[in-house]
Amino acid sequence: MQCSVCNEKEVIKIYRLDKVKFQCKRGHIWFEDYKDNGGRHKRPYSYEIQLEDILFPSEKEVYKKLLDDIEKNNRFYNSVDPVSKAKSFMKNCNITEKEMLTIFRKIRDFEKIKTNTSH
Ligand SMILES: [Zn+2]
Repeated sequence: MQCSVCNEKEVIKIYRLDKVKFQCKRGHIWFEDYKDNGGRHKRPYSYEIQLEDILFPSEKEVYKKLLDDIEKNNRFYNSVDPVSKAKSFMKNCNITEKEMLTIFRKIRDFEKIKTNTSH
């Protein structure tokens, strides 16, 4: 799958009730129809959004590295301040500050979505 505007290959796909929403990493957004609306997409079993659904493929890799690191160094992360944590994440996962912050922002946004829809 790639973006029809910029050919970007990193695209996320969100199943909404009305249409399927696509977004490429550079920010282009488009919608496609489900089969029952003349499109080519099969409806999902569930419309519930998972964190993985809103992460681009490269971000998924960063997220996985972070999880591995947290699991391995759980004790350390529980005992240090946020700045040391951030530094350690960047070093252990070999990621930039920007990559790290993007993931954390998405996790925060995701938790907000979850909280809003469950009440
Ligand atoms: Zn694009």
